Amino acid sequence: MSASRHPALCATDPELASFVAAEEVLQAQTLRLIPSENYVSAAVLEASGTVLQNKYSEGYPGRRYYEGQQNIDRVEALAVERAKGLFGVDHANVQPYSGSPANLAVYLAFAKPGDTVMGMALPMGGHLTHGWGVSATGSWFRGVQYGVQAGTGLIDYDAVRDLALAERPKLIFCGGTALPRTIDFAAFASIAEEAGSILVADVAHIAGLIAGGAHPSPAGHVDVISTTTHKTLRGPRGAMLMCREEHAKAIDKAVFPGLQGGPHNQTTAGIAVALHEAAQPSFTAYAHAVVANAKALAAALLERGFDLVSGGTDNHLILIDLTGKDVPGKVAAKALDRAGIVVNYNTVPFDPRKPFDPSGVRIGTPSLTSRGLGVAHMPQVADWISRAVDAAAKGDEPALAAVRAEVADLMAAFPAPGLPLS
Ligand SMILES: *Cc1c(COP(=O)(O)O)cnc(C)c1O
Repeated sequence: MSASRHPALCATDPELASFVAAEEVLQAQTLRLIPSENYVSAAVLEASGTVLQNKYSEGYPGRRYYEGQQNIDRVEALAVERAKGLFGVDHANVQPYSGSPANLAVYLAFAKPGDTVMGMALPMGGHLTHGWGVSATGSWFRGVQYGVQAGTGLIDYDAVRDLALAERPKLIFCGGTALPRTIDFAAFASIAEEAGSILVADVAHIAGLIAGGAHPSPAGHVDVISTTTHKTLRGPRGAMLMCREEHAKAIDKAVFPGLQGGPHNQTTAGIAVALHEAAQPSFTAYAHAVVANAKALAAALLERGFDLVSGGTDNHLILIDLTGKDVPGKVAAKALDRAGIVVNYNTVPFDPRKPFDPSGVRIGTPSLTSRGLGVAHMPQVADWISRAVDAAAKGDEPALAAVRAEVADLMAAFPAPGLPLS
């Protein structure tokens, strides 16, 4: 990091500054394929690092427990208005600290400990906070879980309906962290209506695709939309809850004072900027490019003999099943990392291996698309992945180093938003 970029930090705490500088280099030189990550714009970075940080503002605009909110109220009201406009919802709460506490607020709003809640099983692609056992949501509530079909890797909506009607859960969550296919919100809505359940769409991964019109919107189908702001939406780390007017009070009360104290106003500012960016035509183009890149990358991986869960993708995410390659997910992920390609190992549905040492690798295209890579680059990306996985099988470190150098060369030609040019 040049001292001119963060002069005070370099002067005050050179040790910490050196870690940040190293991270800037890492993010610049590597091909970042983790589907929940992105590069925020310089404007979002600036908004997230402002003196709004210094202010306590428990409550909501116009109804605070602290004075001096003249500017903070305008920041939060702007973020709320932009969220409502972008997602077409009656109400938005932009205060949740992150996706997990946002989901916890939904439980607090609609369920009591011990109530039955339903979500997709974690190893099938769901999220911890959808009632999975090791999460507070699975120990304080009675989680029942649906999955995908063994053959197709697709959600079996008839099975979801059967489970919902048998269990009559208070809450049903749809959405997840490793779902490569379009979610049918209308199908979930009719199931939830029949079962008398509150339906929550957790669109953390796909919020940016929805905003850009590259995935159908849950608005109008579900009771509550929960989302992080830092994945495809390309904002700061944070979250939002959106709902119909009838649920607005319950949601707001659950977030504050139910679960949180003062909102992180500097994050709210970053969210407002990200929502403004996401409302531009260029973001619509971005969202569609993310999907086009993912489809092209999936096709190129299939050509190179990779198995993909569900056979491909409709969105930004691809789940590679390495069972046939004889390289466990963790070994592949660590080799890819040495090759300058950053992914995460992941369970695949019906994984015979353990969650900490699973059979899959999860990749996605939000970050590379933010750098400006297009479908023409995807065969090259697939080729690097293929070479790195083969090298992992053989323990061929020079081959990994060769890929790393090629990756760094291409990355140098596609500077990432928000990073220093060097
Ligand atoms: C990422 C994610 C979350 C949690 O977000 P954090 O900000 O990491 O707490 C919740 N639900 C889904 C579906 C996610 O993908």
